[in-house]
Amino acid sequence: MSLASFRPSPGADVFSAEELQRYSRHFVLPEVGRSGQEKLKAASVLVVGAGGLGSPALLYLAAAGVGTIGIADMDSVDASNLQRQVVHTSDRIGRPKTASAAETLRGINPNVVVKSHNERLTSDNALEILRPYDVVIDGTDNFPTRYLLNDACVLLGKPCMYGSVLRFEGQASVFDARRGPCYRCLFPEPPPPELAPNCAEAGVLGVLPGIIGSIQANEAIKIILGVGDVLIGRLLLFDALRMEFREVTLRKDPGCPVCGKQPMITTLIDYEAFCGSTTTRKDEHMIKEITVEELKRKMDEKANIVLLDVRQQEEHEYVNIGGALIPLNELQGRLGELDKNAETVVYCRSGSRSARAVAFMQQQGFSNVENLRGGILAWAEKIDPSKPRY
Ligand SMILES: [Zn+2]
Repeated sequence: MSLASFRPSPGADVFSAEELQRYSRHFVLPEVGRSGQEKLKAASVLVVGAGGLGSPALLYLAAAGVGTIGIADMDSVDASNLQRQVVHTSDRIGRPKTASAAETLRGINPNVVVKSHNERLTSDNALEILRPYDVVIDGTDNFPTRYLLNDACVLLGKPCMYGSVLRFEGQASVFDARRGPCYRCLFPEPPPPELAPNCAEAGVLGVLPGIIGSIQANEAIKIILGVGDVLIGRLLLFDALRMEFREVTLRKDPGCPVCGKQPMITTLIDYEAFCGSTTTRKDEHMIKEITVEELKRKMDEKANIVLLDVRQQEEHEYVNIGGALIPLNELQGRLGELDKNAETVVYCRSGSRSARAVAFMQQQGFSNVENLRGGILAWAEKIDPSKPRY
């Protein structure tokens, strides 16, 4: 749906006296004003996940007067949610999160239409559920749903407000394949399940999703209003301990399997299988691997190892463990820069892209090339916790 669809119908006053008073601080903002508030009222936003990120997003979208808010979640409120999922209350433990969140939103702003989708988002129902909404907020906490949501948004041409949090670190971006990169352009493949810690295992500071989820709501509102610079093509990284925001520029990947020039994914796939990495494991047996512990030992022994990072420039600048940088998509044309006989360890974020690089290099006659199992994530986990994860 284009931004033009937010144009409110002219004529009749769409706001009651109560609403005129309620939104008065918006009316005085030139960037919002009467027409902006009408756009908000005409808009619909789907929040996937009524959890840590979804909570603040839902609260602020309702307060701001977004006309229709969808909530997709199949879980019930648990006592362990209440430390950060502020849309729920203690007396609602055991109730469906959709019902709990809807009750809170109606209390905040009875003018808002709240739609509950108390079901698991799957490849079979995602397009149907997402289709009526203008903007999607990704408040998911697992990789299969995140890739599903990304692909569905790309296929439907909808903007997706991305956010994720772990421990004290969070990130946010806006993925809109019509105007910039998508989630897959940034992360073509999920990390291996054993290297994808979740908040239940690793913990999360309660206020952190409050900050990131508010940023997601902020960007959704800006997109509806058509004002400001949206986080398209930019990944915002937040460190709550250092109280520091950083930004990484993201580029659209012309080879992206879903939003690239020749997309391979034209319909929703099996995301559980995709993220369970059952498909990539088979190839990985064929290539030589090295663990982060072995690499560390060899580096400490000052062994003559060539390190090769095959991620993108921005990722390399954000965090690396040294060595040369040749992004995977440039490798074919730049193989001449490398010594075919040198012991070469190839790395990327999680070990997936580097596995492909190693397979290719082996075919090209590199005799002593190994894949760093688990990539930078494993290095940060097991060798150097000061390295930021992303
Ligand atoms: Zn893409």
